[in-house]
Amino acid sequence: MKNELVRYYSDLRDKNLRLHQKRVAECEAKNSRFRALLSEPGLVMQQWAAGKLPLATATSRIGLVTAERKNLLISMGLPSDYLDPIYTCPKCQDKGEVGNPSKLCSCALKKQQELMLSASRINDRETFANFSDAIYPGDEQKKQGLGMKRFCERYVAALPKPEKPNLLIVGQSGLGKSFFGNAIGYAAIEKGVQTVKTTAYQCIQDILSGIDTREDAIAPYLSARLLILDDLGTEAMVPNVTVETIFRILNERAAAQLPTVMVTNLDREGLFERYGERVASRMIDGALTSIVLLRGENLRTRMR
Ligand SMILES: [Zn+2]
Repeated sequence: MKNELVRYYSDLRDKNLRLHQKRVAECEAKNSRFRALLSEPGLVMQQWAAGKLPLATATSRIGLVTAERKNLLISMGLPSDYLDPIYTCPKCQDKGEVGNPSKLCSCALKKQQELMLSASRINDRETFANFSDAIYPGDEQKKQGLGMKRFCERYVAALPKPEKPNLLIVGQSGLGKSFFGNAIGYAAIEKGVQTVKTTAYQCIQDILSGIDTREDAIAPYLSARLLILDDLGTEAMVPNVTVETIFRILNERAAAQLPTVMVTNLDREGLFERYGERVASRMIDGALTSIVLLRGENLRTRMR
C-alpha cells in the first residue's frame, strides 16, 4: 500500500478504537457489571492458552458472558452489538488489505481512487457518463462528438500502454476539447491509473514558483502514469523556461513510455510557430501521437 493509504487506515483504526473506548466507558459508568463482562473473555482465553481450561469450557464461558452483555445492552435500549469492535469496513477490519497473499480490499481501491482524484486536478463532472450529444447543434457535429467519445474511451481502455502513447486533441475554443481531456483522466483513475491533469498555464506557473522555492515542481508531470496537458498555448512564454519545460516533459515521458494527452487550440502551424521545430515535431510525431481534430460551432456560445 502507498503511504497515503497506510496513513488513512491507521487514522481510521485509531478513530474507531477511540469511539469504541468511549462506548465502553459510557456503559461502564451506567452499569459496573460491564467491567467484568468485558474483561472475562480475555481472562478465559489466557487460562485456556495456559492449559488451565479445556476449549469447550472456555468457549461456553465466553458464550455466557457475551449473551449477558448483549442482553444488558438491549435492556438499556442500546443495540446488542454496541460494544463490539467497530470497523468501517468489516471485510478487511480497516486494514485495507484482504487475503493471503494480501491484495487491496475493495474499500482501499475506492479510497485510492478518491486520493488520486483529489491530487489530480480532475473534476468529477466532465466524465464519459455525463457526456450528452444533445449539446451539439447539428448532425455532423453530433456524429463527430460521438466518434470522439468512442475514440477517447478506446484510448482509456488501452491504458496504461496505448499503442500510440500520446493523444493530441486540436480544435477551436468551445468544441468540448477540455471535456474529453478531463473525461479521459477521470476514466483512467477509475481503472486505477494515477493521473495528473494540468493546464499548460498552471504547469508553467508551478515551474516558476518552484524556481523560487527550489522545489522540484516538474517531478509530478514527469512521473504521472498519465498526464493531461490542457490548454496548451495559453501558458506564459518565459524565455528559457516554457519551451524547455514542455520539451523536457514530452521527452522524458516518451523515454519512459508514459502516455500524455495534449489539448490545444493551436493547429500545426501554430504549434511550430510557438514551440519551434524541435518541440512541435515531437508533439505531432505520428509514431507516438494520435491526432484528433474537432471542428464545428462553438458549444459554449450556443449554450448561452
Ligand atoms: Zn475493506
